[in-house]
Amino acid sequence: MAFIKIDRDNFFYNLNQFVKRVGSKDKIAIVLKDNAYGHGLKIMAKLSYEFGLTQAVVRDIREAKSIDKYFKHILILGDRAVVNSKYSFALNSLDDIKRAKLGSIVELKIDTGMHRNGISLDELDIALELIKDRDLNLKGVMSHNRSADELSSELFWQDKIFNLVKNRVKFLGFKDIRFHSYNSASALRLNCRNQDLIRLGIGAYGYNELPDVYNKIELKPVLSLWANRVSTRRVKKAQRLGYGGEYIAPRDMIVSTYNLGYGDGWIRSNDFNIYIDTLPILGRVSMDYISLESREDEILIFNNANKIAKEMNTISYEILTQLSNNIKRVVT
Ligand SMILES: *Cc1c(COP(=O)(O)O)cnc(C)c1O
Repeated sequence: MAFIKIDRDNFFYNLNQFVKRVGSKDKIAIVLKDNAYGHGLKIMAKLSYEFGLTQAVVRDIREAKSIDKYFKHILILGDRAVVNSKYSFALNSLDDIKRAKLGSIVELKIDTGMHRNGISLDELDIALELIKDRDLNLKGVMSHNRSADELSSELFWQDKIFNLVKNRVKFLGFKDIRFHSYNSASALRLNCRNQDLIRLGIGAYGYNELPDVYNKIELKPVLSLWANRVSTRRVKKAQRLGYGGEYIAPRDMIVSTYNLGYGDGWIRSNDFNIYIDTLPILGRVSMDYISLESREDEILIFNNANKIAKEMNTISYEILTQLSNNIKRVVT
């Protein structure tokens, strides 16, 4: 099977770029949802701990349980709030508030313009009252920006609305609340010094998704995907390769099979011309194999998900999160 290398130095390098921006390791919550964006949940949790981070963000309780020994606090984005002194739960709706267990630690998500999740502004007072009535322990108020990585002013109006929310929450007498709305792109674009916390995902893994016009902070990809040679053969001109015989050899050539396929989370579609470095994938991707004109025993499939993502008409996030958890990961 293919394998993944996790570059510890690059990960630490990226984290340091953000520590410089926020001023403290304690103000960074590393986002480890979806198997740490495909990098491997436990590996990245452990590395985050070794770096000195104390906070994480995951999708559900199952993920939190498997890594909670590494962190002081974990924010869970999409699960029912239960009582656990180390976990807080994002509340996305009034129903979430009603379902939360008494005494659980919660963070209220506000819809400041993305219109995906969160309490709308005109529900804010009701939500806060309900949280008080139900004896929930309100630790934070949060929001999410929809266009932080796009060349527009939308980030600024969302930020402005969130400031109104902050003032309202404070005005209503809630104390010691942490307010947070910044993801990677927001943190790269805006001043972070006055933030209580940033929720750092893709940036930690080495991708600065801002358009080129911004003064770009260089980040270094952490993950590289590799495959091993399974077999090699001589193919004669006009012989056809793989399922459906879709690829027709234009000349005599040496072709090897490598142990990566759609079963590993590699996208199968033939609609794109995908290049492994400079080598095109020949014919269809099988469940466990691809064919390349190479004899290398070990081949680098990619170390920059953005390049592959462009060829596949998607985003780095999708390329990374699809990588199967069964692929062996090694830290280098
Ligand atoms: C995934 C996620 C993040 C991290 O976003 P990046 O763009 O990867 O930094 C932050 N906040 C919430 C609520 C998320 O779901």
